[in-house]
Amino acid sequence: MKMNHLKIKIFLILSSVIVSVAMIITTYNIIHDKEQNNMRMQEAYQSVHLNFEETIRETVHFYTARANSNIRSPEVIDAFRSRDHDKLYRLIFPRWTVMRKENPSLVVMQFHNADGTSLLRMHQPKVYGDPIASQRPMVAYVHKHHTIAYGFEEGRQGLAFRILIPVTEKGRYLGAVEFGLSTAFITEKIYRHTGYASIFFIRQNFLGVFAHVENYIQIGNYIALDIPAKLLPLVEQYKKENSSFKNSIIHYDNQSSAITTMPVKTYLNQSMGAIMFIRPVSDFGNHVFQMIVATAIMAFSLIIVIGFIINKIYDTVANKMSFQEMYSQTVLDAIPSPVIVTDGHELIAANQTFLAYLHYGNVSDFKRDHACVCEYFEEGDTEDYLMPMFNDQRWTEYISDHPLINHKAKITIEGQTTVFDVKLSLLKFKEESRYVVIFTDISSIQSISMTDPLTGIANRLHFTMVYEHAINVAAREQKPLGIIFFDIDYFKQVNDRYGHLKGDKVLKQISDMVMKQLRKSDIYARWGGEEFVILLPDTSLYQAFQLAEMLRVAIELENFGTSEKITCSFGVAVLEENESAEMLLKRADELLYQAKESGRNRVVNQ
Ligand code: GH3
Ligand code: MG
Ligand code: MG
Repeated sequence: MKMNHLKIKIFLILSSVIVSVAMIITTYNIIHDKEQNNMRMQEAYQSVHLNFEETIRETVHFYTARANSNIRSPEVIDAFRSRDHDKLYRLIFPRWTVMRKENPSLVVMQFHNADGTSLLRMHQPKVYGDPIASQRPMVAYVHKHHTIAYGFEEGRQGLAFRILIPVTEKGRYLGAVEFGLSTAFITEKIYRHTGYASIFFIRQNFLGVFAHVENYIQIGNYIALDIPAKLLPLVEQYKKENSSFKNSIIHYDNQSSAITTMPVKTYLNQSMGAIMFIRPVSDFGNHVFQMIVATAIMAFSLIIVIGFIINKIYDTVANKMSFQEMYSQTVLDAIPSPVIVTDGHELIAANQTFLAYLHYGNVSDFKRDHACVCEYFEEGDTEDYLMPMFNDQRWTEYISDHPLINHKAKITIEGQTTVFDVKLSLLKFKEESRYVVIFTDISSIQSISMTDPLTGIANRLHFTMVYEHAINVAAREQKPLGIIFFDIDYFKQVNDRYGHLKGDKVLKQISDMVMKQLRKSDIYARWGGEEFVILLPDTSLYQAFQLAEMLRVAIELENFGTSEKITCSFGVAVLEENESAEMLLKRADELLYQAKESGRNRVVNQ
């Protein structure tokens, strides 16, 4: 459950990171795209502009050269000067044919008389003599200034790019030669160089008298003539969105077009119109939409993949962990005795035997009813059993502090009392402690236990059982019976200075060394705490005293690993006639008390 929460948390955090990154990238791309678009528009305008200028320059240059080469011959000049329409036509016709072949956009070649009348139109030879200069300002301008003029002007042939070259003979102005190119010539050239289709717009006041207006569209003062049918809806759309000329992007029929407009000046540098260039571009809005969709798909896929990976990792870890848990549970369950794992306060795990013994199905059920297993521990009357607390120590700590003692716990379930030997292993990992506690049922052996669990010598129960018998035997056989009581001096200090474990070791060491000095028939027992009793059959008071003295000296000289000596006080007595078992014990105990009182580390006998 906890695991799943963490999984969802990690998944949500990673997902939000991915979504945020995707949003940042998209926003950046949109801004970047917009900038790019603007930049492309600028570049387009530049290139169109340069191309336009270059085309005009080249065209003017080219037709000026053509004019000069065509009229250089004296015959032509002669025909021009004498205004011989037919002769001039005949002379120029072959060249006109070549030039038309050379450039089919050449729609006008006209000779103008200096007086403003038309001398010859190669493209319309039958119409001449009309006062054309009065209707064509550019013609009038050249007649007046005798300089080359060029630009877009409306004429009989419609709007054309016209170049007028003055013709002089020995400084005398004869008139002018005019070449006119359809606007398509210019626009096609630009289209070839830049990929922009274009439409000419003329300012209303520049529309000449010849204007024939078809398919026209007006934007502000500008009128577009002869718009190609396929561009018409686009220009209409542009008009809807723009009241005046400016560069912009028009979306029409699922297609975006970059519109670049460029002013067109007259030979007098007056603004006479504008050229609108149109180029299809990748749809910006559509592009942004596609970009958002693509990023969203990518982010979504990434989220799915990450979700999948997190899931996989978690499953693997969870499997591994549950395997570990299963593994340790199986090991626990395989032990036939009750086993628990605790951190010293709470029950963490328990095996089946334990749960079945206490009639619980699982650990949580147990924990609902009990804070500790030790709630079951009972006190004994003759023996010490584990209690929940010992002098401010929890039972688990107490056991680990006293590893030499065989700890026992008494538990009664449904009237059935069981005594357990309690063994504990401590597992420390970083700050955490785990106690593995094994309860071994020793009820059957317990009932006949005669041994002190720490020292391995007889316990008090054992002593009392044989003591009475020994007294009876001694009385009947008229043999002396000695008894020694001894108690370690200031033993409390040993515990206080070196700890209980050391105290236990001292108890065991003294027991062992005393044991070695005794006969098989002697009875040696732990009376309780740090007090011991030795029953010496067939031993006189003197012999008993000597043994006690020997033991006293031996203990005094023994090295217990403590900086100060460890000594014992002894009380020695022998059974008197008609003396009861109880009285003899009492006497011996009193003698020991006297030994303590008179300064300790000594033997006092009766
Ligand atoms: P005294 O010379 O008067 O006998 O002084 P004492 O300190 O030996 O006597 P006291 O009765 O005041 O204290 C006995 C101490 O022995 C107290 C108790 O903690 C310790 N003791 C009793 N049994 C055990 C045991 O099994 N293990 C350890 N480590 N200490 C024990
Ligand atoms: Mg003592
Ligand atoms: Mg004592």
